[in-house]
Amino acid sequence: MQAAGYFDTVVIDAGHGGHDSGARAVNGAPEKQLALDTARRVSRILRSSGLRVVETRSGDYFIPLDQRVAKSNSLRNVVFVSIHYNWVKRAKPSGVETFFYSARSSRLSANIQREVIKSSGALNRGIKNRGFYVLKNNKRPAVLCELGFVSNPSENRKIQTAAVRQRLAEAVARGILAEKAGRNP
Ligand SMILES: [Zn+2]
Repeated sequence: MQAAGYFDTVVIDAGHGGHDSGARAVNGAPEKQLALDTARRVSRILRSSGLRVVETRSGDYFIPLDQRVAKSNSLRNVVFVSIHYNWVKRAKPSGVETFFYSARSSRLSANIQREVIKSSGALNRGIKNRGFYVLKNNKRPAVLCELGFVSNPSENRKIQTAAVRQRLAEAVARGILAEKAGRNP
């Protein structure tokens, strides 16, 4: 278990970008744009809470996964949080899930998942252990948040709304701050 205050910097990773649009929403902006907007909101909140934030991208351009991880691995006292929206072929699936790989990242994922579920009322798909590239190759505690399905018409309608993304961002930030405080979910 990580001690309270084990990080003072957060690497915020907006998924996709540039030629990689990520998921195509049933309506409205694609995942890359939604993820960037949400990531920027998270960054703003964390900075105003006194944390240092490093963004892997701050615009609509492509960053290879290894460079995203390298940024995290080159820093000390950091956690890495990747922001995504989900997509499946069917219209029905919905909800929020947070992925981690290493055991030392599991509490961070649980802290974020709890706050997002509490604030959004979305279906709780839980925290999941998965070897995604940006998690598996990360030497720092690292999580990947899937903040809802843009393939689900009603969930997508919410996600396409700036006020909803702001609330999601606030919840992700609260989860990160709870982790910094050493809170056990
Ligand atoms: Zn994605």
